[in-house]
Amino acid sequence: MAVLAAKWRDMLAVLGLVLATSLLVFSQSQLPLLFLPILAVILAAVRTGREGAAIAVVVLAILGDVATVAGRGPVLLVSGELGPQLQSFQFFLAATVLTVLPVSADLQNRSQILRRLRVSEERFRVLAEHSADILMHMNAEGRIRYVSPSMQTLGGHSPEQLIGMNGLDFVAPEHAELVRAGHAKVLASRGEVVSFRYLGLTVTGGKRWFHTQSRALLDEDGNIDGVLSVSRDVTEQVAEEERLQAAALTDLLTGLPNRRAFQSLVKARRQAVGDDGQDCIALLDIDFFKRVNDSWGHDAGDEVLRGFAIVARRELRQKDVVARLGGEEFAILLPDTSLVQAMQICERLRATIGRSMLVRRLPEMRVTVSGGVAALGPEGLECVLKVADDALYTAKRSGRDQLALAA
Ligand code: GH3
Ligand code: MG
Ligand code: MG
Repeated sequence: MAVLAAKWRDMLAVLGLVLATSLLVFSQSQLPLLFLPILAVILAAVRTGREGAAIAVVVLAILGDVATVAGRGPVLLVSGELGPQLQSFQFFLAATVLTVLPVSADLQNRSQILRRLRVSEERFRVLAEHSADILMHMNAEGRIRYVSPSMQTLGGHSPEQLIGMNGLDFVAPEHAELVRAGHAKVLASRGEVVSFRYLGLTVTGGKRWFHTQSRALLDEDGNIDGVLSVSRDVTEQVAEEERLQAAALTDLLTGLPNRRAFQSLVKARRQAVGDDGQDCIALLDIDFFKRVNDSWGHDAGDEVLRGFAIVARRELRQKDVVARLGGEEFAILLPDTSLVQAMQICERLRATIGRSMLVRRLPEMRVTVSGGVAALGPEGLECVLKVADDALYTAKRSGRDQLALAA
């Protein structure tokens, strides 16, 4: 409403000016002041657009015509005849229209573009200010030019304080190199979206995981004008992924690493020490476990498996890894251990299991284990497990509740 009123006010003012200059110029015949109404019409076009320019030209035409016919105005300077004088006036009007109309069309175009730009800027501002993601605009060196208010709720930083600071100031030191490399990749890929994940710092010194999508902004000449990034707090997602990953590597019943985890732990160990390490592997299997299930029930069998895991963890060294390969079969990685030492450690475990009360509600129940022990050589885990399994089979055949050394 106020905008409309202001437009009408503008229109009346400039038309008044056109009227005044036209009256002034056409009320006298001594001075060639025809340029003055042209200036007023141009002003009408600038202030009120095409409609105002058209009305101004009509006002000028009527006034000029009437004045010329009545024998007044600067057109009378042309010659003494009315015909040529009116022709000159029409020529003047045509020149005015040809000058003013392109100007008003161009101005109208520009004002439309500006209006659209303002609408789109407003839309972007609303999106940025209500987005849960952090929108950041940086220069090529990483200095912040704009950051959305969500930075405050997510990172604890107020947006105004951050202008001019470097985006890297909010990255945990251990991930600074990763983010620097990501930023360099963004600049090098010129407009391609680059994603990376890193630990960011909160204002209280805490750390949260962020996933960032970044791209370089190019100016009309193709030069890098800055970098736009959208960052999302993915701390909960990362925790969930870690939980799932851990679950995929853990035996649910006993909480021990499962076969897959054992394989990758052994692989990592071999890669760390190479062929120089002196490691051993033991394969332990509960004797007559089927009878436990049959006599005491499946739940009691489960408790035996859990009990075995607790005793094994307690009896073994911190650096030893015990895993459940499946059923009632367990594997142990004994790092930096000779075969003799490995036999001693496993012998101690075997004896303890034989003495332990694995199921609290069934104190009379006792179970025993048999095992095969082998050195872990360059042939790889599967090969060593096969050799240890052969030794385990020997122990079983020799009467169970005992260990055998791989041949
Ligand atoms: P051996 O002394 O020769 O090893 O005999 P065993 O009875 O221990 O061996 P066998 O392979 O005949 O039986 C293993 C049993 O373990 C069969 C299977 O039902 C049981 N079992 C496998 N996984 C589980 C489990 O998660 N919980 C329970 N309660 N029993 C299981
Ligand atoms: Mg068994
Ligand atoms: Mg078995």
